[in-house]
Amino acid sequence: MTNSTALDRLTAHASELRAIRHDLHQHPELAFEETRTSEIVARELARLGCTVTRDIAGTGVVGTLSHGHGRKSIGLRADMDALPIVETTGLAYASRTSGKMHACGHDGHTAVLLGAARYLAETRDFDGTVHLIFQPAEENIGGAERMIEEGLFKRFPCDAVFAFHNWPGLPTGQFAVRPGTIMAAVDTPTVIISGPGGHGAIPHKSADPIVAASAVVTALQTIVARNVDPTEPAVVTVGAFNAGTACNIIPESARLELSVRSCSSPVRKLLAERIQAIVKGVSEAHGCKAAIDYEFGYPATVNTAGETQFAREVAAELKGAHPIIDLGAPTMISEDFAYMLEVNPGCYFMLGNGDGPERKMLHTPDYDFNDELLVLAAAQFGRMVERFLPKS
Ligand SMILES: [Zn+2]
Ligand SMILES: [Zn+2]
Repeated sequence: MTNSTALDRLTAHASELRAIRHDLHQHPELAFEETRTSEIVARELARLGCTVTRDIAGTGVVGTLSHGHGRKSIGLRADMDALPIVETTGLAYASRTSGKMHACGHDGHTAVLLGAARYLAETRDFDGTVHLIFQPAEENIGGAERMIEEGLFKRFPCDAVFAFHNWPGLPTGQFAVRPGTIMAAVDTPTVIISGPGGHGAIPHKSADPIVAASAVVTALQTIVARNVDPTEPAVVTVGAFNAGTACNIIPESARLELSVRSCSSPVRKLLAERIQAIVKGVSEAHGCKAAIDYEFGYPATVNTAGETQFAREVAAELKGAHPIIDLGAPTMISEDFAYMLEVNPGCYFMLGNGDGPERKMLHTPDYDFNDELLVLAAAQFGRMVERFLPKS
C-alpha cells in the first residue's frame, strides 16, 4: 500500500475509530482493572483474524498477525489505563464513572492500535509478523515491566518496538521525536524524619522534625543547582510534606515524598547518593533521624538511532500538515514503554494533540484526546509495519 492509500483506507473507517474511542472514554478503567477494555480489544482483534493472547500481566492482550514467510517481526504498543480524576469536560461521551477518567489519552492510543490492526488485517501488504501489544497500567505501576516479566518478548519476539503518545501543545498530528533519551527516569523516595517532639512552648526540650524537614527541602534544591552537570537534565521535586496535628504540638515525625527525574544512569545514581546524604546529614544536624525508602521507578525512555530515523521517515512520507520536530531535549515526564526499549531496539514518538486553548494538558480534568489524530496515527503504525516488513 502507498501512504495515501493507507490514509484513504483509514479515513473510510474514521467514524468507527471515533466510536471505539468514545466508548472507551465513557468507560475508563484504572491500572490493572482494564477488564472491559481488554475484552473489547480481544474481541475486535479476534474478529479481524488476529491470533489473540490474553491474561499477560492480568488484563494485557497481544494480537498477532503473520503474513508470508518473512521471519522479521515488529511490535506496536498501546496503553489502556485511565486515571483517578473527576472529569469536567462536559462532553457527550464523558466518563460515566465519577472519579475515573481517560485524562492521558490512552483511550485514543488503544483505538489507534485497533485501527492499525484493522488496516493491516484487511490489506496484509507485509511479509512477516506484527505483534499488537495492549498493555495495562502505564500510569505509575509498570504494566509494561510486568508483561515483560511474564514473558512478553520471549513469547512474542520483536526485532523492534514502537509506541507514541499524543502531545498537547503541539499542532494536531505534528510528529516529534529524538534519538537517545526522549523521556526521563523517575524515582520516588519517601523520607520520614523523626525526633522527640514536645510542647510547642518548650522547643528547647525537643528536636523538631518540621524544622529539620524544612531544612532538608531547601538543601535538596542544591543538588540540581550545585552537584549535577548544568548540561544534564535533572529534577528534584518535593511533592508532599506532611507533619503535625496542632499549632502547639511539636510532632515526632515529618514525611516527605519526592519525585526525582533524570536522563542518564550516572545522573540517576548521583541524585540518589546526594539525596540520601543530604537527608541524613541535615536531619542529624537538627537532632533528628531520617529513614529513606528509595523507590526506583521507570528507567529513561531511550530511542535507538536507526529505529528513530525509520519512524521519522514514515512520518515524513505521510506528509502531515506540520513539519517534523526534532526535539532538542527530552521531556522530564516518564513512560513505562522504557522497559520495552530496554529489551528491544525501537522508538517512542509524540504526535501533536493540538495547540489551541481547547487542548488541555495531560492529566487535567478537562483534557480530551483529539479524534483528528486517530487516522493519522493508525496510518503511521500501518505504514511502519509495511516498510519494516516489506514484501519481496
Ligand atoms: Zn499519563
Ligand atoms: Zn499517557
